[in-house]
Amino acid sequence: MTLTEIMETLPYGPAPEAAQPAMDWLKAHKGKFQLFIAGKWRNPASKEWFTTINPATAQKLAEVAQASAADVDEAVKAARKAFAGWSQTKGHVRARYLYAMARQIQKHARLFAVLETLDNGKPIRETRDIDIPLVARHFYYHAGWAQLMESELAGYAPLGVVGQIIPWNFPLLMLAWKVAPALAMGNTVVLKPAEFTPLTALLFAEICQNIGLPPGVVNIITGDGKTGAALVEHPGVDKIAFTGSTEVGRIIRKATAGSGKKLSLELGGKSPFVVFEDADLDSAVEGVVDAIWFNQGQVCCAGSRLLVQEGIAEKMYTKLRARMEKLRVGDPLDKAVDIGAIIAPVQLQKIQQLVQKGVEEGAKLWQPSWAVPAEGCFYPPTLFTEVAPASTIAQEEIFGPVLAALTFRTPEEAVRLANNTRYGLAASIWSEDINLALDVATQIKAGTIWINSTNLFDAASGFGGYRESGFGREGGKEGLWEYVKKIEQHRTAQGQTSSARGLTARASAESLPPIDRTAKLFIGGKQVRPDSGYSKAVYAPDGRLVGEVGLGNRKDIRNAVEAARSAQEGWRKTAAHSKAQILYFLAENLSQRAEEFARRLSEQTGQDGGAEVEAALEALFTAAAWADKYEGLVHPTPLRNVTLAIPEPIGVMGILCPDDQPLLALARLAGTALAMGNTLVVVPSPLAPLSATDFYQVLETSDVPAGTLNIVTGERDELALTLAEHDDVDAVWYAGPQAGWALVEKASAGNMKRTWILPSSGPLPDTDEILRQATQVKNIWVPYGA
Ligand code: NDP
Repeated sequence: MTLTEIMETLPYGPAPEAAQPAMDWLKAHKGKFQLFIAGKWRNPASKEWFTTINPATAQKLAEVAQASAADVDEAVKAARKAFAGWSQTKGHVRARYLYAMARQIQKHARLFAVLETLDNGKPIRETRDIDIPLVARHFYYHAGWAQLMESELAGYAPLGVVGQIIPWNFPLLMLAWKVAPALAMGNTVVLKPAEFTPLTALLFAEICQNIGLPPGVVNIITGDGKTGAALVEHPGVDKIAFTGSTEVGRIIRKATAGSGKKLSLELGGKSPFVVFEDADLDSAVEGVVDAIWFNQGQVCCAGSRLLVQEGIAEKMYTKLRARMEKLRVGDPLDKAVDIGAIIAPVQLQKIQQLVQKGVEEGAKLWQPSWAVPAEGCFYPPTLFTEVAPASTIAQEEIFGPVLAALTFRTPEEAVRLANNTRYGLAASIWSEDINLALDVATQIKAGTIWINSTNLFDAASGFGGYRESGFGREGGKEGLWEYVKKIEQHRTAQGQTSSARGLTARASAESLPPIDRTAKLFIGGKQVRPDSGYSKAVYAPDGRLVGEVGLGNRKDIRNAVEAARSAQEGWRKTAAHSKAQILYFLAENLSQRAEEFARRLSEQTGQDGGAEVEAALEALFTAAAWADKYEGLVHPTPLRNVTLAIPEPIGVMGILCPDDQPLLALARLAGTALAMGNTLVVVPSPLAPLSATDFYQVLETSDVPAGTLNIVTGERDELALTLAEHDDVDAVWYAGPQAGWALVEKASAGNMKRTWILPSSGPLPDTDEILRQATQVKNIWVPYGA
């Protein structure tokens, strides 16, 4: 056998993911799950239970409580009771809970992924790499909105108790899409998972318990359609958020009509996947794989109608068939499997019936040569060509791995065919001509359009339908409006204070002499000695010596700038979500040492150090929150055009901190600048630099890349001058006495760097101003027209 033959015939070996940890979790619960109401587990009033099975093996996984109308009533009452406190809880506190949820999901990611695969039948590759990471992302992102609600949604209040009903195709992800924004905005929820897939929602309930979420803020009631109907009809519910079939969506629309309940519906789809003849066909074929064979095609926005330009249709079908032949259907826990099990026999029958109908209506069926496993619920990837636009398989949502292909000749015809549906959830457009792609994108009636891509989701981007695909959006800022209502008065007028740990500043009263501490400089991710070899004393307001810091000089600044420059490209390109995570992690690690920092601050400033640490933690949360939310605009310039205004980082920045509030200034100024993608050389408060030098250890444990944040202690004006003169520094923020203002501005003229002058004491600038100073807007003009 030649090497080529070996490479071509190399069979996949089995690569099974172990089910044991998830099975152990089920066993630890004796395979039986109660309802989660008011923070406690309780038996259903109905005394009824139903079974959830593994669709890949038809084996029973667990028994789950069937919630009756009486249980729904209990859950709604618990949510109402909890709403009183939760709606008044400060945004920062809600942000902490949502952050804890994100963290818990990451920490138990594999358990969630395996459990989801067992309960739903979707491949482990998808639960592990798509569903669960997106769930964590959703909680992180909405932790940010909880943090920012008071400033960014001023004048809006939560709605109250939200009833949420979700389907089985993305069980935990749909939970996250519903629960995260609702809680972020101060609502409490009663959620009903789908009957086929309740398990990950129950594991999520455990997380809510573990993190100490106040009882009743999240209630999980399992059951069937009757449970959902009871929730919809309950008079104590202020809003219903539903994802599922258009048929049930219609029932819910009628049931809630006139009740004053707010409603959002995310329903079915029959999304077009449009391929023009200039498309990169190999990419388009991979796109089809992701569009219709992702999650066995059980995706509301699946690209289930392939519209392909006539001239390349046969070529595309040939490539597609070759690709389909290589797809692997089988055990969803096998890491090398592409397509897992269909959710249940009833869904399999529905697919089979619709495929039969397609054949009867004259479309041409093609399936790969291999057979799917005989045991369990499986269906092969299926391609229909020669499909008539009005036929059943071109119009009905099949919700399975079945693609219906049609051809078109011109872009106008493509648009007409794409819009020839009662749905409007999503569309995917493939062309190497951006003019054409954007022109068509503006004409297709759908909530999401992907160009040369498909099935992309993110918490920062709203998702939802046009027409019979429903209304309302989930994700992005637009998704928040579904969970708030306008009020006369500003929420913060109620004068809430943080319910956090209530730190108090303690005077240091050590009986032993303290161990002498060596505060160095922090450059390139390392603690380094100052080049000068000198130290500078730090005194308390009463004149007592409280410590010493290194006296940095020009050379230290140059090294720090070099480190910041080397780190700049990597940090700028780091995904906004990752930047946010790092900033949250900084806050998390700072909070571990809150008391120590509080003490140190009180020593240096004579002020309430505990309050300053709390404010610094909030500032880091706010910076993290903005990392993925400081959005650009689309300008309405003339012509057929999109002009994208994108905020970009400035680059390497020097920040000279003010005298006062040394930790808060560091967190607010540097945190926000980092969130926007800048790398920094920071000179901490000259009067109280020890909090910054203590901060090195927090930085070292928080995944902040080396060189991203450099700290040089020393004489402010001397260091400011070096920074302002340095040609590789792009901006300098100087908070200092008036004498230094002209010095910095004059010296900045060398490379025309941006400067921002601030007073040396007094209140810090607001975050919106800092965000503007930390970014520069780039306008990208994209004309279009076919
Ligand atoms: P449903 O729309 O029936 O189910 C969605 C959720 O609503 C489930 O939790 C369900 O409970 C609940 N529900 C059912 N009836 C009612 C009611 N009268 N009032 C309130 N809630 C109710 O979808 P199915 O799971 O039954 O699937 C049926 C078809 O819907 C599928 O074949 C597929 O075509 C389509 N579908 C579309 C989805 C989409 O996102 N576009 C998602 C899921 C399905 P229970 O689980 O007990 O049924």
